[in-house]
Amino acid sequence: MKILHNISECLTMAGGPRRGSAMAQPGLIRDTAVVMEGEVIVDVGGSDEMLGRYPNEERIDAAGRAVVPGFVDPHTHLVWVGDRANEFEMRLQGKTYMEIMAAGGGILATLTATRQADLETLVSESQARAERAFSYGTTTMEAKTGYGLDLETEFRQLEAILLIDQQGPLELVPTYMGAHAIPKDYPGGTAAFTDWLCEVALPETKKWWQEHAPEKPLPFNDVFCEQGVFEIEDTRRILQRGEELGFRSKLHADEFVNLGGASLAAEIGAVSADHLVKTSLEDIKRLAASETVAVSLPGTPFGLGQQEYTPARAIIDAGGYLALATDLNPGTTWNESMQFIQALACRTMKLTPAEALAASTINAAKAVGLEDKIGSIEVGKQADLLVLEVPDYRHLTYRYGTNLVAEVYKKGVRYVN
Ligand SMILES: [Zn+2]
Repeated sequence: MKILHNISECLTMAGGPRRGSAMAQPGLIRDTAVVMEGEVIVDVGGSDEMLGRYPNEERIDAAGRAVVPGFVDPHTHLVWVGDRANEFEMRLQGKTYMEIMAAGGGILATLTATRQADLETLVSESQARAERAFSYGTTTMEAKTGYGLDLETEFRQLEAILLIDQQGPLELVPTYMGAHAIPKDYPGGTAAFTDWLCEVALPETKKWWQEHAPEKPLPFNDVFCEQGVFEIEDTRRILQRGEELGFRSKLHADEFVNLGGASLAAEIGAVSADHLVKTSLEDIKRLAASETVAVSLPGTPFGLGQQEYTPARAIIDAGGYLALATDLNPGTTWNESMQFIQALACRTMKLTPAEALAASTINAAKAVGLEDKIGSIEVGKQADLLVLEVPDYRHLTYRYGTNLVAEVYKKGVRYVN
């Protein structure tokens, strides 16, 4: 057992995921200690009280610094090879994302590099990003496939996710995203590729997973629902087929055009709907009335140099669950830091520091279906928490671009930055 004591303020996020106005309540307690045993939190309370209750246990002095739950990053494309710095330069010269994609760039450029890479390269390049995210306070990260689109490469990506997770300390939550793009010159185009996904790829992925990770639940199934990629009816088919096979759904919705992806997510009971930049008020209301978490990715418009962000205040006002994620990927936003995402969310979407923190911890845990295990500092939860360099958690968003995480506890193990 170990006692982390002399915590200036502990942002517990106790009481489960937060909807709407409840996001402003971070469960802050002052002069706190957190008691951990093995991988789990076994007590939380006043610092003196805890030291009195457990007089003979190992003590670690937090030295008057703030403690928050480990960040959960619920949307990343962690596993890829190479970079697209050239496209960044093209964009600065005025080309749009869709123009770059039409010219064979975008996702398809990373697809070519990732298809050619062996497992070792894929793991080592991705592991470096996982380690950077961990040092910046991300203790659990969702990671998608989708840079293969053929079975062989998608399975290699899943294998890389399993290996990086096994290596730790960052914990990964896998998502299958065979519906990330349409392979160039695919015979029959979107309709034929959608058929193949439903009839071949999803069943084969289930089989692969059950052979390679039988003890783990199936990955999520995610679709890039966007004009010119997977339209709303394609998306519905792929997600419904996945649900039939036991995959829970996520979708990329309304990033560039509002196709009604947010309403579809609510309708089919998706775990999350992500991006939501062009979402209409009607769709926001339907989403907010459901259990689906709205995941905002402010790093993406920022990375693209765009001015339009998720209508986060409207989602909160409508009583929805809002989460934040990096969308870490080589095309639009290569950033591993959830601290930066929170700072960005406060400035561009007018979240308060407490709302940004809830969106990055307990609500983000719900966006990957793990709200009962991670995302808050409560008895029985996994001991994933961060000791900040500062006594006041608001510095996380007030300051930006530097790392304010001094120590990371993952499953009760201490890692000092
Ligand atoms: Zn994405």
